[in-house]
Amino acid sequence: MNKIKYRKCQGCLEIKDRSFMIKITKLNNGLLKINPSSNELGRSVYVCKNSECIKNFIKKKKIKTALKYSNHTEIERIEEEIKKMLLN
Ligand SMILES: [Zn+2]
Repeated sequence: MNKIKYRKCQGCLEIKDRSFMIKITKLNNGLLKINPSSNELGRSVYVCKNSECIKNFIKKKKIKTALKYSNHTEIERIEEEIKKMLLN
């Protein structure tokens, strides 16, 4: 049986079922990755897979604040990737 894991969305700040969320992890090599495999560890943030949460998430610069991350080029690349995931 699969146990449901709950995580806090950094867009709406509610606790949600992890399987409906996007996970962004700061890898040991200093880069960011969306939904990494379980053997890639690092500090992570979560956001619901909906436009409202993602809009808030990006507007409030949650990657920078929640992950304590300051590589702006990398942040922009990941934010673009997240937006694309909404369109698919
Ligand atoms: Zn949310």
